[in-house]
Amino acid sequence: MSSVTPRAVPFYCPFCGEQELRPGDPSGWRCEVCERLFELQLVAIGGEA
Ligand SMILES: [Zn+2]
Repeated sequence: MSSVTPRAVPFYCPFCGEQELRPGDPSGWRCEVCERLFELQLVAIGGEA
């Protein structure tokens, strides 16, 4: 009942695994560690009506 699901920043760098991500492009993120740009696709959990 007290499970906290952080959905604000559930991301981590797919390249180095760090969580030092900063919003770069409107549809992309930039890793501060390896300085790579990548896009994240949010998957709707539970499905949409
Ligand atoms: Zn990285």
